[in-house]
Formats: sequence, structure tokens, C-alpha cells
Amino acid sequence: MADAGRVAVRVIMLGAPGAGKGTQAERFAKARGIPRISTGDILREAVQAGTELGRAARTTMEAGRLVSDEIMIGVVKERLLKKDADVGFVLDGFPRTVTQAEALDTMLDKSASLVIVDIEVPEDVLVKRLAERRICGNCGWGATPGVASCARCGGPLVTRSDDGEETVRERLRVYARNTQPLVDFYCRRSTFRSVDGDQTLESVAADLSAAVASVIGGRQ
Ligand code: AMP
Repeated sequence: MADAGRVAVRVIMLGAPGAGKGTQAERFAKARGIPRISTGDILREAVQAGTELGRAARTTMEAGRLVSDEIMIGVVKERLLKKDADVGFVLDGFPRTVTQAEALDTMLDKSASLVIVDIEVPEDVLVKRLAERRICGNCGWGATPGVASCARCGGPLVTRSDDGEETVRERLRVYARNTQPLVDFYCRRSTFRSVDGDQTLESVAADLSAAVASVIGGRQ
């Protein structure tokens, strides 16, 4: 439940790998004082830490395929129970299948709108962006374009192990097959919005804020 008098802001970011979901989700979440929940970051941290989850996910991630719905639904269910998610959240990388989206609907009470934002970027732009993307070699945190070291721990930036050319192609194929149907699943809802992701960071951020405001408007 949200604090009395404050409506929770719940946002799902949809978009292909490289669409800028992570960067925009981080920025939006910070501005609103809500957590960004990135399932990719949770998995990468688990891989780095060598936990059971990390061991289960590693090979699948490196091949650019999707970790099982069962595992992912469990991860998100547990994460949403943490206190900081009471005031809302930005989900980045989840749901990625219709099964995950249906499970998410059952996890959430109806006290606040669920805003779904699809960030659209042409495929040739995605491939170029993914080739240039960097993450922290220490903690796995995604890096904002243009920065020299990790904003969280100061660690060195490296290319993601699943951002090689072949894996990128596989991830885009996986996105088209499993995640694009999510747009069909959500697009008839009155809380669904599309944002043009092929613009400057600032313009995408402004459009994202406007899209969320158009749903939750003056209710905050
Ligand atoms: P991302 O950082 O969101 O691009 O996620 C990196 C990788 O983590 C994906 O290519 C998948 O292997 C895995 N992953 C992240 N989120 C999910 C999810 N919701 N369902 C299945 N696999 C996921």
C-alpha cells in the first residue's frame, strides 16, 4: 500500500534491448524517489556473487535467451515485497513474456494505476547502441552513456558478455518472438503509452514523464 495521501507510481518499461529502458528507468525512478527494479541487473549481480540464482541464469543469459518464467516471477515477487516498493517502482526488463505479465497482474493490488510505456527504437539504431554499451566490471550495474566509471561503486566499465554481435542478434530475435507480444497484451489498456526512443536522452525523458503524467496526472 502507498503512504496515505501519496499515490504510488507504478511503471513498466517495455522496449527492445538497447532501447534505453535502463537509462530512462534509472533517471525517472531517481526523480520520483521510487526504486528502479531491473531484472537484468538483479541477475547480473547474482551471477557475479555466484548465488544459486546466478548459477541457474548464467548460461541462459550468455546465450541471449530468456531465464524461465518460473524463476523470474519468483525474483520479482520477492523484490516487490520490499518496503521501498510500497511507494511505487519502475520495472525494467520485466515482464518479458505474456506469462510474466499475467503473473504481475496477480501480484499487484489495484490501489494505483500500472503505467506501461513502450520505448520504440528502429532496429539498426539498437544494434549500434548495443555495440557501444558498457556495464560495471565489479558490480554489474548498467552505465549511463558517456560516464567513465560506475556511478554506484566507481568500478571500471566493460562490455556486457551478452552484447557481442551474435548474442545481440539472438536477443533481438528473442525480443521479437517473446516480448513484442507483450505490446499486444498491454496496448488496449488505457494506461499504455508509446514513446519515441530515437531522440536525445533529455527528449526521451521528457516524453516519458509526460506519458506517465497523462495517466496519473494530478493524482500524485
Ligand atoms: P537485460 O539487462 O534486461 O537486457 O537482461 C539481460 C538478460 O537477463 C536477458 O537477455 C535474459 O537472459 C535475462 N533476463 C532479464 N530479465 C528477464 C526476464 N524478465 N525474463 C527472462 N529473462 C530475463
